[in-house]
Amino acid sequence: MKIAVIGAGYVGLVTGTCFSEMGNDVICVDIDKEKIENLDKGIIPIYEPGLKELIHNNISKTLFFSEDIKRAIQKSDIIFISVGTPMMKDGNADLSAVFDVAKTIGEVIDSYKIIVSKSTVPVGTTLKIKEIIQSGVTKRNNNVEFDVVSNPEFLKEGAAVVDFMKPDRVVIGAENNVVFEKMKELYNPFFRTHDRFITMDIPSAEMTKYAANAMLATKISFINEIANICEKVGADVNNVRVGIGSDTRIGYDFIYPGIGYGGICFPKDVAALIKLGEQNGYESKLISSVDKVNKDQKKLFLSKILNKFGEDLLGLSFAVWGLSFKPETNDMRQAPSVFIIKELIKRGASIKVYDPKAIDEAKENELKGVNVFYGENKYEVVKNVDALILLTEWKEFRSPNFDILKKYLKRPIIFDGRNQYLNYKLKESGFEYYMVGR
Ligand code: NAD
Repeated sequence: MKIAVIGAGYVGLVTGTCFSEMGNDVICVDIDKEKIENLDKGIIPIYEPGLKELIHNNISKTLFFSEDIKRAIQKSDIIFISVGTPMMKDGNADLSAVFDVAKTIGEVIDSYKIIVSKSTVPVGTTLKIKEIIQSGVTKRNNNVEFDVVSNPEFLKEGAAVVDFMKPDRVVIGAENNVVFEKMKELYNPFFRTHDRFITMDIPSAEMTKYAANAMLATKISFINEIANICEKVGADVNNVRVGIGSDTRIGYDFIYPGIGYGGICFPKDVAALIKLGEQNGYESKLISSVDKVNKDQKKLFLSKILNKFGEDLLGLSFAVWGLSFKPETNDMRQAPSVFIIKELIKRGASIKVYDPKAIDEAKENELKGVNVFYGENKYEVVKNVDALILLTEWKEFRSPNFDILKKYLKRPIIFDGRNQYLNYKLKESGFEYYMVGR
């Protein structure tokens, strides 16, 4: 099939690349000229395991990059909208990029197309996209036909290619069977073992994405709340986690305590869902609390450091291991590390950081202009600092050489926001070890 993917970010780039790998002709379009020029040269703006190899396999064969949105639309049968829908100050999703793209589609379509909304958008948006396109088509006195689809994306950053190639499910919201059939044909190569295609009406498909992310965020805030109570009463959240996870109704996934969720999706989708309820006469109680627990979690972690060292951190220095909001990605959007580092610096501390993939991202965006030292490896940053703070559970932090840490640290103190180490082992080796919920 001929496909256009508009918005070549985490979702669009993975979507376009995976469709091209299956033999479709794909044009990925973005308004970011530099991004497109780089992609065209095979320079990938994000770190995502397996993505670079797939792009290099398909580029200039079935995968093309372009700034020319009009041509991409006209040349394609199916158009995916995968632009960003960032959180606005009031919590609503900013849909301006989605509607801009819809307007352009309305101005240029000249034959039947299926327009697929892959961006995460509040209920009602896909039908609004349809209205905008129709109004453009009507203005031109054109009687070209088109259909709209809601196809929310469930990939996880850090495992995006695998998730897209072997999806747990593909949710399609559409208005007629011809469209369902066409979308099924497109996704069929991704279901080698059995069909994971779920069809429904458009509003339910849009809502499914928000409900899925809100459920996952709820699990994280739930275990964080349990961890906080564990600390107060002398229980160990790790034992509790294993104890509850063995119940198949609960399961082990997503019940790891820590410093709260970050990233581009959970914070904004939880906020947008609260707003969606509010705007439709429903005051969310549970989801609002999920958000509140999450916002407090990174503050609670910070308070552990401040309880130990006091509010005035002038003259103290800390090593931070991990910047990205989770391992296997360079994405730092809404990462708890940004909050913690800035709060420590505000109180006079000096900070040395190391992350396997996110340092460029930090320098260019989230920590731009913030005075931190970036190390080349995990041991370099620990030399002569007052404590080590672990914020992202990259594999290379799981089993460090504790003798080296002890030798390099000014004081053998570790604040671990991800409960990575054996408590008793560290205590035996003379470390002061602070965790979450233990
Ligand atoms: P992103 O910020 O990485 O990428 C968005 C891209 O769209 C950028 O490259 C931007 O330049 C481009 N863009 C913006 N306006 C444009 C326009 N008018 N025309 C063409 N390109 C334009 O965002 P993302 O992480 O890929 O997320 C995209 C959508 O997918 C969001 O709605 C997000 O909630 C959703 N989503 C994201 C993930 C994830 O893990 N990142 C997972 C599932 C769903």
